[in-house]
Amino acid sequence: MKISFLSIFVIIIVVFFIIPVIEGNRLLAINNTASSIFLKNLANQKYENFPKFEEIDFKSSNITVINSTFQVENIRIPIQLEKINNNTSIFEGDILVSKNIDTPEGKAAIQNFAEGLTKPWRNGNIPIAIDPDLSNSTRLNIYKALETMINTFSSEDIHLNFTIAKNQANILYITNANTGCFSQFIGMYPNFGGLLRLSEECKSGDIVHEFGHVFGLWHEQTRCDFKDHIILIDTNIHKEKISQFQAKCDPSDPEHKALSPISHGDYDFCSIMHYPFFINQRFAIEPSKPVIEAKETVNCSHIGHQKNFSEGDLSAIYETYSFVS
Ligand SMILES: [Zn+2]
Repeated sequence: MKISFLSIFVIIIVVFFIIPVIEGNRLLAINNTASSIFLKNLANQKYENFPKFEEIDFKSSNITVINSTFQVENIRIPIQLEKINNNTSIFEGDILVSKNIDTPEGKAAIQNFAEGLTKPWRNGNIPIAIDPDLSNSTRLNIYKALETMINTFSSEDIHLNFTIAKNQANILYITNANTGCFSQFIGMYPNFGGLLRLSEECKSGDIVHEFGHVFGLWHEQTRCDFKDHIILIDTNIHKEKISQFQAKCDPSDPEHKALSPISHGDYDFCSIMHYPFFINQRFAIEPSKPVIEAKETVNCSHIGHQKNFSEGDLSAIYETYSFVS
């Protein structure tokens, strides 16, 4: 079949220009759904003095592994962090812990991360401020993710509310990344809030995953009991990335039970917080081969890359925010 230059041109215009405009108009259409009213207000947000966050080169290939610990209730758990060449530390691939980890301030930030786990957002309110310089395509994917979450939470009676940031003490800031999708902190960091760094690669489901971290959820595949459910194919994982799949375990527990409250309920392959079996070349030596295999029958079509929270995720979120009346 011969495809003319004109048809390629028309396809490009439709895919990259017309569909996004139609989709944008649909998301922002004035009707009486809670999501469209909020998204319209967010699109019109004029957040003055959006902080100038220091840029991070996530494409860095200069990676070292550093040992750290964090506290879950009374248990101190050994963990490993990735340090990239501008001294940023990253936990499990997409959780930013600190800049300048070799300075006293950086060490204090890691300590705070270790001890300030999973603080829920006060009253379940999450004020959002979006960087005015964020691209339209990333913005559209954020709107889609927010639409999915708002509609899901209202049907599940979960009391988490997104609001338009004004000048509150705790705000979720959303800014750009040069690659990948990242959440700074897990849950709300007191007297700051949270920070998402999203590149144009982040699709709506990836953004819902990052919001999972914002609400306080951890990765499913690094629960302490993961070896009962999955096999890690470590021969297909880059050596410096193995630490990103390290289980969070109580060193004194020979049974390797899942740790509450960071691991909620039964092991959940369908969780949006589960990494996929096949991962890109940042993690996998051969991306066409899996890095994880299941030890049991799995009832989800796509492990990782889910578009919305699983029932297990919603139950964890519901429990975390059930104090809100
Ligand atoms: Zn994550």
